[in-house]
Amino acid sequence: MTNKPESRGDEEAFYRTLLESTRAIPWRIDWDTKSFSYIGPQIEDVLGWPPESWVSIQDWADRIAEVDRQRVVDYCVAQSQAGIDHEADYRALTADGRQVWIRDVVHVLRDANGEVEALVGFMFDISERRRNEEKLVALQEELERLSYQDALTGVANRRRFDEVLETEWASARRNATPLALIMLDIDHFKQYNDHYGHIKGDEALQQVAEILTTIANRPRDLVCRFGGEEFVLILPETDSEAACQLATKCRDAVHEASIEHRQGGPSQLLTVSMGVVAGIPQRDDENPNPLIRKVDRRLYLAKERGRDRVVGDAEA
Ligand code: GH3
Ligand code: MG
Ligand code: MG
Repeated sequence: MTNKPESRGDEEAFYRTLLESTRAIPWRIDWDTKSFSYIGPQIEDVLGWPPESWVSIQDWADRIAEVDRQRVVDYCVAQSQAGIDHEADYRALTADGRQVWIRDVVHVLRDANGEVEALVGFMFDISERRRNEEKLVALQEELERLSYQDALTGVANRRRFDEVLETEWASARRNATPLALIMLDIDHFKQYNDHYGHIKGDEALQQVAEILTTIANRPRDLVCRFGGEEFVLILPETDSEAACQLATKCRDAVHEASIEHRQGGPSQLLTVSMGVVAGIPQRDDENPNPLIRKVDRRLYLAKERGRDRVVGDAEA
């Protein structure tokens, strides 16, 4: 820098201009009196409170939103007493009753004896950054949700199925509670698509998914699209009898939906076949894979025996 301020007065004016033209709001608090000896005029633009209204440290505390107040005041006072530089994010109250996210960055000044003499710092308006962060978090949550969801039907996807089955199976084994699986496959769905077209086929898949989620509606029940026109239901704390009843209810509900399928079975309606297994995983069972193989075999049996039916323990 070549154009240095000429005198001390110039220098002060120079620094003041510099401080008061930044977007950060400078301030100074005398530690003895716990009162503001300076606050930048920009504070009025950001929070609406004029500089002269910032008198005591209490004014600062009072203008912190209640949710953040205790935490921030306790933290800043403790850090200041310990002579440690620090920063805090909080919602400040504006004169017209809004809230603005502020980051306060605090430097502790000490006298020759090492005693705390004053606090100096900057307040930054970080509401824009906060909003972006919140948007980002919401997006991440949405992305996570989508990564577990089947795009067509909105039910859980295969990935979610694998995770939930693992945890529910482990929980059933630990607690010796029964776990049931229903595997469902739409009958003659290739002909349905061939006859009515893929759009109608997609709609039928959505309808079936909707029926299943309405019926398997306890908090831990999970309906998953296993792939193509196959769905799997995970039913924790459900024994064989209850699971078969639920499967029959699903089968009946698909009938009642009366989805025309002229190329289908005798009913000329869209129907579904299901395999059902249930049981308490044993200590020496290593994983749920045998359960899946078993339910798959039962679904195959249901197809073989004429479709539009349920094969569980009683029928296998
Ligand atoms: P089965 O009664 O033995 O189950 O016969 P199927 O015709 O239902 O069985 P297959 O496995 O031969 O055909 C399944 C059909 O499901 C083939 C495919 O066109 C259809 N399909 C799979 N995924 C989708 C999808 O996302 N949308 C639509 N519209 N059709 C699908
Ligand atoms: Mg199939
Ligand atoms: Mg099928």
